Amino acid sequence: MSTHQIQISAFQDWMKCAVLDIANQELGEGYFKSVLDELKGYALTINCLFKGQYLIGFSLSYRCSLGQFIDATQSHMSISLSSSARILVVKTIVVKAEHQRKGCGTGLLKHLIEEAFREDTKAILALGWKSKSGVNIQHLMATFGFEERCEIKEFWKSGSEKYQYQCPDCGHPCNCSAIIYSKLLSNSNS
Ligand SMILES: [Zn+2]
Repeated sequence: MSTHQIQISAFQDWMKCAVLDIANQELGEGYFKSVLDELKGYALTINCLFKGQYLIGFSLSYRCSLGQFIDATQSHMSISLSSSARILVVKTIVVKAEHQRKGCGTGLLKHLIEEAFREDTKAILALGWKSKSGVNIQHLMATFGFEERCEIKEFWKSGSEKYQYQCPDCGHPCNCSAIIYSKLLSNSNS
């Protein structure tokens, strides 16, 4: 395996086209725009992963309370936290197909976890995409000790209808499920 000059940078405006390209290619045309629309009102964090000067992946995350997240996703999960607890939601981790399975996703998630540990964040929640080929982030979740919390069926169906995007796995509308994972952080007593 060759050595990679992998580096993570905070999003800047000039990276926009490359981010959209990766999103359209890996997640389906138009999907990312719907996510940005849906998450209007949240302060989003986009971390960009570079190999040399090329952007090869990114993560999209935001912070909110557990209650806000549960309301917005209509998810039913039992988790030992109050609904006012601050959480970090990992909405998307995406790496260009030709760079997958080389630790890129691991690097992006590790960065987010380290950030969350430095703040008053009680838990990290992550959304996995369950398609016919399995859950896209299952390996990452296992690596970092996340627990599977619940499955939400047809999670992207109404969005794919509203925003007219194609699911790369199942077409239109999207019938895939989302899997919600969580990792409680033990920095609350520090
Ligand atoms: Zn789908």
